[in-house]
Amino acid sequence: MDYAIAPPAVPSLPIQGSALRFPIRRVFCIGRNYAEHAKEMGAAVEPGRPMFFCKPADAVVADGADVPYPSATQELHHEVEMVLALGTGGRDVPAEHAAALVWGVGVGLDLTRRDLQAQAKAKGHPWDVAKAFDHSAPVSALRPLDGALPGPDTELRLTVNGTLRQQARLGEMIHDAPHLLAALSTLFELKPGDLVFTGTPAGVAALERGDRFHAELAGCAELRGCIV
Ligand code: MN
Repeated sequence: MDYAIAPPAVPSLPIQGSALRFPIRRVFCIGRNYAEHAKEMGAAVEPGRPMFFCKPADAVVADGADVPYPSATQELHHEVEMVLALGTGGRDVPAEHAAALVWGVGVGLDLTRRDLQAQAKAKGHPWDVAKAFDHSAPVSALRPLDGALPGPDTELRLTVNGTLRQQARLGEMIHDAPHLLAALSTLFELKPGDLVFTGTPAGVAALERGDRFHAELAGCAELRGCIV
Protein backbone atom coordinates (compact mmCIF):
# COMPACT_ATOMS: atom_id res chain seq x y z
CA MET A 1 0.00 0.00 0.00
CA ASP A 2 1.33 3.41 -0.94
CA TYR A 3 0.07 6.30 1.20
CA ALA A 4 -0.05 9.94 0.18
CA ILE A 5 1.64 10.94 3.45
CA ALA A 6 3.62 8.87 5.96
CA PRO A 7 1.12 6.71 7.91
CA PRO A 8 0.88 7.55 11.63
CA ALA A 9 2.81 5.37 14.06
CA VAL A 10 0.88 2.79 16.10
CA PRO A 11 0.66 4.07 19.70
CA SER A 12 1.78 1.40 22.15
CA LEU A 13 2.61 0.68 25.79
CA PRO A 14 5.42 -1.34 27.37
CA ILE A 15 4.59 -4.64 29.05
CA GLN A 16 6.01 -5.65 32.43
CA GLY A 17 8.71 -8.30 32.07
CA SER A 18 8.63 -8.33 28.28
CA ALA A 19 10.39 -6.68 25.37
CA LEU A 20 7.10 -6.77 23.43
CA ARG A 21 4.77 -3.77 23.34
CA PHE A 22 0.99 -3.59 23.51
CA PRO A 23 -0.50 -1.79 20.46
CA ILE A 24 -3.30 0.65 21.31
CA ARG A 25 -6.40 0.78 19.10
CA ARG A 26 -8.82 3.08 20.99
CA VAL A 27 -9.20 4.54 24.49
CA PHE A 28 -12.61 4.34 26.17
CA CYS A 29 -13.38 5.96 29.53
CA ILE A 30 -16.31 5.63 31.92
CA GLY A 31 -17.67 8.64 33.80
CA ARG A 32 -18.96 8.63 37.39
CA ASN A 33 -18.02 5.11 38.43
CA TYR A 34 -17.34 5.85 42.12
CA ALA A 35 -20.18 7.33 44.17
CA GLU A 36 -17.94 9.62 46.26
CA HIS A 37 -16.41 11.15 43.11
CA ALA A 38 -19.83 11.69 41.50
CA LYS A 39 -20.86 13.45 44.73
CA GLU A 40 -17.80 15.73 44.78
CA MET A 41 -18.60 16.71 41.17
CA GLY A 42 -22.19 17.53 42.16
CA ALA A 43 -23.53 14.79 39.89
CA ALA A 44 -26.24 12.29 40.71
CA VAL A 45 -25.29 8.64 40.35
CA GLU A 46 -27.80 7.29 37.89
CA PRO A 47 -28.47 3.60 38.24
CA GLY A 48 -28.51 1.64 35.02
CA ARG A 49 -26.38 2.44 32.04
CA PRO A 50 -22.91 3.87 32.60
CA MET A 51 -21.75 6.99 30.71
CA PHE A 52 -18.75 6.71 28.36
CA PHE A 53 -16.44 9.02 26.46
CA CYS A 54 -13.28 8.50 24.40
CA LYS A 55 -9.73 9.75 24.01
CA PRO A 56 -7.55 9.27 20.93
CA ALA A 57 -5.02 6.42 21.13
CA ASP A 58 -2.13 8.84 20.65
CA ALA A 59 -3.14 10.77 23.79
CA VAL A 60 -1.46 7.96 25.76
CA VAL A 61 1.79 8.93 27.52
CA ALA A 62 4.09 6.17 28.77
CA ASP A 63 5.41 5.74 32.32
CA GLY A 64 8.23 8.10 33.24
CA ALA A 65 7.58 10.61 30.46
CA ASP A 66 6.99 14.30 31.10
CA VAL A 67 3.43 15.51 30.56
CA PRO A 68 3.19 19.01 29.06
CA TYR A 69 0.68 21.29 30.81
CA PRO A 70 -2.10 21.61 28.21
CA SER A 71 -3.11 24.82 26.48
CA ALA A 72 -6.43 26.60 27.05
CA THR A 73 -6.98 25.63 30.69
CA GLN A 74 -6.32 27.07 34.14
CA GLU A 75 -7.56 23.92 35.86
CA LEU A 76 -5.85 20.66 34.88
CA HIS A 77 -7.18 17.86 37.12
CA HIS A 78 -5.89 14.36 37.85
CA GLU A 79 -8.18 11.32 37.90
CA VAL A 80 -6.38 8.10 38.84
CA GLU A 81 -8.00 5.00 37.32
CA MET A 82 -7.44 1.29 36.71
CA VAL A 83 -6.91 0.71 32.99
CA LEU A 84 -7.94 -2.50 31.23
CA ALA A 85 -6.14 -3.56 28.04
CA LEU A 86 -8.22 -5.82 25.82
CA GLY A 87 -6.70 -8.76 23.98
CA THR A 88 -10.01 -9.98 22.55
CA GLY A 89 -12.99 -8.09 21.23
CA GLY A 90 -16.68 -8.67 20.95
CA ARG A 91 -20.17 -7.23 20.69
CA ASP A 92 -22.93 -7.64 23.27
CA VAL A 93 -20.59 -9.59 25.53
CA PRO A 94 -22.37 -10.91 28.65
CA ALA A 95 -20.80 -9.76 31.93
CA GLU A 96 -20.02 -13.35 32.88
CA HIS A 97 -17.76 -13.66 29.81
CA ALA A 98 -16.32 -10.14 29.77
CA ALA A 99 -13.30 -10.76 32.03
CA ALA A 100 -11.94 -13.04 29.29
CA LEU A 101 -11.52 -10.01 26.99
CA VAL A 102 -8.90 -8.49 29.31
CA TRP A 103 -5.30 -9.13 28.31
CA GLY A 104 -3.68 -6.99 30.99
CA VAL A 105 -4.15 -4.19 33.49
CA GLY A 106 -2.42 -0.95 34.30
CA VAL A 107 -2.96 2.31 36.10
CA GLY A 108 -3.51 5.64 34.36
CA LEU A 109 -4.50 9.25 34.76
CA ASP A 110 -7.59 10.55 32.95
CA LEU A 111 -6.28 14.11 32.78
CA THR A 112 -9.08 16.65 32.50
CA ARG A 113 -9.38 20.34 31.66
CA ARG A 114 -11.90 20.76 34.47
CA ASP A 115 -12.76 24.36 33.61
CA LEU A 116 -13.61 23.43 30.02
CA GLN A 117 -15.56 20.41 31.22
CA ALA A 118 -17.66 22.63 33.50
CA GLN A 119 -18.40 24.95 30.56
CA ALA A 120 -19.30 22.00 28.34
CA LYS A 121 -21.65 20.58 30.98
CA ALA A 122 -23.33 23.97 31.45
CA LYS A 123 -23.91 24.38 27.71
CA GLY A 124 -24.72 20.75 26.92
CA HIS A 125 -21.63 20.61 24.69
CA PRO A 126 -19.49 17.51 24.09
CA TRP A 127 -16.57 16.78 26.43
CA ASP A 128 -13.87 16.27 23.80
CA VAL A 129 -11.84 19.42 24.45
CA ALA A 130 -12.02 18.73 28.21
CA LYS A 131 -10.97 15.09 28.00
CA ALA A 132 -9.45 14.10 24.65
CA PHE A 133 -6.55 16.56 24.36
CA ASP A 134 -2.94 15.66 23.51
CA HIS A 135 -1.02 13.87 26.30
CA SER A 136 -4.25 13.47 28.33
CA ALA A 137 -3.77 9.79 29.14
CA PRO A 138 -0.59 8.77 31.00
CA VAL A 139 -0.66 4.96 31.49
CA SER A 140 1.74 2.60 33.28
CA ALA A 141 3.42 -0.42 31.74
CA LEU A 142 0.79 -3.15 31.45
CA ARG A 143 0.75 -6.25 33.63
CA PRO A 144 -0.41 -9.32 31.71
CA LEU A 145 -3.36 -10.89 33.49
CA ASP A 146 -2.55 -14.26 35.04
CA GLY A 147 -6.07 -15.50 35.56
CA ALA A 148 -8.48 -13.29 37.49
CA LEU A 149 -8.90 -9.51 37.36
CA PRO A 150 -7.55 -7.58 40.37
CA GLY A 151 -9.90 -8.24 43.29
CA PRO A 152 -12.25 -5.79 45.06
CA ASP A 153 -9.75 -5.14 47.86
CA THR A 154 -7.04 -4.00 45.44
CA GLU A 155 -6.10 -0.40 46.20
CA LEU A 156 -5.87 2.43 43.73
CA ARG A 157 -3.71 5.34 44.94
CA LEU A 158 -2.33 8.62 43.68
CA THR A 159 0.26 10.79 45.37
CA VAL A 160 1.38 14.18 44.05
CA ASN A 161 4.74 15.46 45.33
CA GLY A 162 4.56 12.72 47.98
CA THR A 163 1.13 13.76 49.32
CA LEU A 164 -1.77 11.31 49.05
CA ARG A 165 -4.52 12.75 46.82
CA GLN A 166 -6.74 9.79 45.89
CA GLN A 167 -7.18 6.34 47.43
CA ALA A 168 -9.90 3.72 47.01
CA ARG A 169 -10.54 0.02 46.68
CA LEU A 170 -11.70 -1.36 43.34
CA GLY A 171 -14.71 -2.80 45.15
CA GLU A 172 -16.05 0.75 45.43
CA MET A 173 -16.67 0.90 41.68
CA ILE A 174 -20.37 1.22 40.80
CA HIS A 175 -19.92 -0.83 37.59
CA ASP A 176 -17.21 -3.45 38.11
CA ALA A 177 -14.90 -4.34 35.22
CA PRO A 178 -17.03 -7.16 33.74
CA HIS A 179 -20.27 -5.14 33.86
CA LEU A 180 -18.54 -2.04 32.51
CA LEU A 181 -17.14 -4.02 29.54
CA ALA A 182 -20.50 -5.69 28.95
CA ALA A 183 -22.21 -2.29 28.79
CA LEU A 184 -19.50 -0.80 26.56
CA SER A 185 -19.79 -3.76 24.17
CA THR A 186 -23.46 -2.91 23.55
CA LEU A 187 -22.37 0.50 22.20
CA PHE A 188 -19.15 -0.39 20.34
CA GLU A 189 -17.76 -3.62 18.95
CA LEU A 190 -14.75 -3.98 21.24
CA LYS A 191 -11.46 -4.84 19.54
CA PRO A 192 -8.05 -6.16 20.58
CA GLY A 193 -5.85 -3.21 21.52
CA ASP A 194 -8.64 -1.17 23.10
CA LEU A 195 -7.87 0.43 26.48
CA VAL A 196 -10.63 1.09 29.00
CA PHE A 197 -10.26 3.61 31.85
CA THR A 198 -12.54 2.38 34.64
CA GLY A 199 -13.35 5.60 36.51
CA THR A 200 -11.85 7.63 39.32
CA PRO A 201 -12.57 7.77 43.05
CA ALA A 202 -12.95 10.98 45.08
CA GLY A 203 -10.10 13.41 45.59
CA VAL A 204 -9.64 14.83 42.09
CA ALA A 205 -7.69 18.10 42.24
CA ALA A 206 -5.45 20.43 40.30
CA LEU A 207 -2.00 19.67 38.93
CA GLU A 208 0.55 22.43 38.37
CA ARG A 209 3.76 22.62 36.37
CA GLY A 210 6.53 20.88 38.29
CA ASP A 211 4.20 18.45 40.08
CA ARG A 212 5.41 14.84 40.27
CA PHE A 213 2.73 12.19 40.32
CA HIS A 214 2.91 8.56 41.39
CA ALA A 215 -0.10 6.37 40.64
CA GLU A 216 -0.40 2.78 41.86
CA LEU A 217 -2.71 -0.15 41.38
CA ALA A 218 -1.35 -2.01 44.39
CA GLY A 219 0.60 -5.12 43.50
CA CYS A 220 -0.14 -4.67 39.78
CA ALA A 221 1.18 -1.47 38.22
CA GLU A 222 2.85 1.88 38.90
CA LEU A 223 3.00 5.12 36.92
CA ARG A 224 5.30 8.08 37.49
CA GLY A 225 5.61 11.36 35.66
CA CYS A 226 6.02 15.09 35.90
CA ILE A 227 3.87 17.98 34.65
CA VAL A 228 6.11 20.36 32.70
MN1 MN B 1 -12.20 9.71 34.58
